Amino acid sequence: MAMTDAIVSVTGVRRAYGRKIAVDGADLTLSRGRILGLLGASGSGKSTLLRAISGLESIDAGSIVIDGQVVTTPDRRVPPEARRVGMVFQDFALFPHLTVAGNVGFGLKGRRDRDVVVAALLTRLRLADRASAFPHTLSGGEQQRVALARALARDPAVILLDEPFSSLDSSLRAEVREDLVRALRDSGASAIVVTHDAEDAMIMADDLALMDAGRIIQTGTPHALYTRPTSVAAARLLGPLNLVEAGVRQGLATSVLGQAATILPDGEAWIGVRPSDLRLADAGTGLQVRVESVGYAGKFRIVRVSNGPQTLSVHVDYEAPAIGATVGLAVDTARLLVLPRTGGGQAAVGR
Ligand code: ADP
Ligand code: MG
Repeated sequence: MAMTDAIVSVTGVRRAYGRKIAVDGADLTLSRGRILGLLGASGSGKSTLLRAISGLESIDAGSIVIDGQVVTTPDRRVPPEARRVGMVFQDFALFPHLTVAGNVGFGLKGRRDRDVVVAALLTRLRLADRASAFPHTLSGGEQQRVALARALARDPAVILLDEPFSSLDSSLRAEVREDLVRALRDSGASAIVVTHDAEDAMIMADDLALMDAGRIIQTGTPHALYTRPTSVAAARLLGPLNLVEAGVRQGLATSVLGQAATILPDGEAWIGVRPSDLRLADAGTGLQVRVESVGYAGKFRIVRVSNGPQTLSVHVDYEAPAIGATVGLAVDTARLLVLPRTGGGQAAVGR
């Protein structure tokens, strides 16, 4: 991400509500024409940061620059309508008494080219045949496209979307998500998508920023973050994770699951491994473990195994062994993640 290409730059932004620090020195860069996913657990400060970028929220420290213009500092806040941002809210927030065309053209009142702009947006977002429909008659995906069209109407430099799928059933989600990505790509817009869902974030985003306790803890492509997280918190945000204790000596971390190279200094560390990167083998191969439980999760089974001190989750898409059986646990050591002890985490598992 070249700095010159930044359409949104957030530097050292802090926002507290009384004693509660919601955003704690966050840095973030959105590059022109890209989709940035802002992924974090509930309460990590995502919405507060997005509202600060939109101009709805003031900040206590730092600065926000949009398209070369300083729009927020602790002393000055350009109002939302005067900055080039378009917002898509969680529940879409469509005006129920206005038609699709009325919703899309809402921010263009008084503009002579209003009908032309609205018609072009409706065509672009495949809503032309719905122009005179009211929101309650639309599908979830259509409502979302209307919200996006309305956000695009004033030609924003950036579109901000806060949890755009949280009001949709999981059955609709994949389709609407695909639709939204396509619409964003077609519009050529730069966008920040806030979500707490790792799958949504990884599928939609070109770049990801991981947020934890008010800070951006790591940024990169989805693949880079998934395969090379630098902390337990980052690794956990992208999916379930097993942790076992490890010791580091001279660039080599050692654990019951095997050894892996690391740049961490000598001392204690964690070795993390995804449940999908572990395999059950015949007893006698690898680490000997006892099957504690088997759960069903649709496409795969979650098998919990223990070697006494440690319990680990294994995702298997083959036949699960019987509870109480002793089996071997095999792992491709290239998949082991060596993570520092600092940055949260305790031994054992996610799901
Ligand atoms: P997220 O969107 O990641 O769930 P938020 O930005 O909504 O997180 O909230 C971050 C933290 O700030 C939370 O602890 C939340 O309770 C607190 N917070 C957010 N908005 C307010 C507010 N208006 N007044 C007081 N506390 C708030
Ligand atoms: Mg939120």
